[in-house]
Amino acid sequence: MIEYENLNKVNAPYFEEYKKSFADVLDSGWFVLGKNVEAFESEFANYLGAEHCVGVASGLDALTLSIMALDLDAGSEIIVPSNTYIATIMSILQCGHKPILVEPCIETYNINPELIVKSITAKTKAILVVHLYGKPCEMDAILQICKERDLFLLEDCAQAHGAEYKGKKVGTFGHLSAFSFYPTKNLGCLGDGGAVVTNNAEYAAKVKMLRNYGSNKKYHNLLLGLNSRLDEVQAAFLRIKLQHLDNINKHKQRLANLYLQGIKGDYILPQVTPSTTDVYHIFNVRHKKRDLLQQYLLDNGVKTEIHYPIPPHRQPAMKFLHGMDFPISEQIHTTTLSLPISTFHAEEDVDFVIGLLNAFKC
Ligand SMILES: *Cc1c(COP(=O)(O)O)cnc(C)c1O
Repeated sequence: MIEYENLNKVNAPYFEEYKKSFADVLDSGWFVLGKNVEAFESEFANYLGAEHCVGVASGLDALTLSIMALDLDAGSEIIVPSNTYIATIMSILQCGHKPILVEPCIETYNINPELIVKSITAKTKAILVVHLYGKPCEMDAILQICKERDLFLLEDCAQAHGAEYKGKKVGTFGHLSAFSFYPTKNLGCLGDGGAVVTNNAEYAAKVKMLRNYGSNKKYHNLLLGLNSRLDEVQAAFLRIKLQHLDNINKHKQRLANLYLQGIKGDYILPQVTPSTTDVYHIFNVRHKKRDLLQQYLLDNGVKTEIHYPIPPHRQPAMKFLHGMDFPISEQIHTTTLSLPISTFHAEEDVDFVIGLLNAFKC
């Protein structure tokens, strides 16, 4: 059986280092926001080429805190892709703003800059882009729109640690950017974690307060914040994993290239664009008979996933979107299938999957 994901195997190479750093944290007696969090924040900012990083409790909180830092008027409109993980849209709602869903390009699965322009109104205050599956968005076009229309830019980098657009890492384009360190992400910890990244010192200081009850001095609360702190154990694990992130991404890129070159026939493969270095958090193919294909692969010993089976505008929690039409998003949701591409998969595993795909008849 070729598994889709196995977090024991993903983390096994770091067990010895993790055990040592866990023992150090245990001995220190200091567990929330401490030396490891500070060190990780500066190491991750440095890795990205950004000025500031603020560790928080999750990717969703990183998004929410980024929006909170902008201090937008209640009910402001924020443009967001119609095909994203639900957290992106939830963060906008949590802040009391209105998500305006914009369709992706069918080739890249990322938000379509031409459709962004058509969705801007007098109430639009920000664009929240998502570098879906680990592929950076069309940043030149999006930056141009933000400049011309005087809009804030936010980036959801939860699937794109280390991905680059024209040689510059994602997370360094927006006013604020959000990362998740959920265990399955390319840079994953052993629980929940996230970070806000920014080049602006004021935003960084504000997010630091907002993550800690709006306080920058014990028992003095300046803002209405959250409790969304990164803990020392996770930060210590992340410092170790960060040293391996480039190798993790290279391994996934190598497997992706095998898929790209080996898969023949009736499949729509991810687009390769010269302007982007993709990190393949997910490697998807699209096929008209997706469900039959998934069952066929399973019957032959290969587990796959669907990212995502239900689009945000059809989720019970998103009633205000019901009845709206997002045909491109639906087309992706009904045809996409995510293939095994984890760090523990070998080239032979991928060759086996390619062989099955090329023999699929329907
Ligand atoms: C994982 C993910 C999030 C949320 O991150 P959590 O750490 O699970 O809160 C947000 N956006 C995208 C695109 C994601 O993939």
